[in-house]
Parts: sequence; C-alpha cells; structure tokens
Amino acid sequence: MTQRTCAACACDCELDAQSIKVKLGGKTVEVCCEECAQALKEADSAMAARPHGES
Ligand SMILES: [Zn+2]
Repeated sequence: MTQRTCAACACDCELDAQSIKVKLGGKTVEVCCEECAQALKEADSAMAARPHGES
C-alpha cells in the first residue's frame, strides 16, 4: 500500500481522491488542499526568480 502525504505541510493526513496535483518544474507533487498548492507554487517561483540564476 502506498501512503501519500501532503508535500507542503507535511501533515500525516493521507491524500485521497481530493488530493491536488501541483507541477513544479519537471515533477508533480500532491498536496492536501489549495492553500498548500499555492504555497508550493509561490516557493517555486521565488526560487526561479532568484537573481544570478543564469546557467
Ligand atoms: Zn497540506
């Protein structure tokens, strides 16, 4: 059995059909609610917007 938990708040609640998939860069993570999805997206874009991030 695979137990999936929220990638944002690290709560112990299991994700079920109500889980929300969030695409960050190349990978997809699952969170428990819209707020967690938003938090992950903001954290991701903050990373991307980092100055001197040229490769
Ligand atoms: Zn959550």
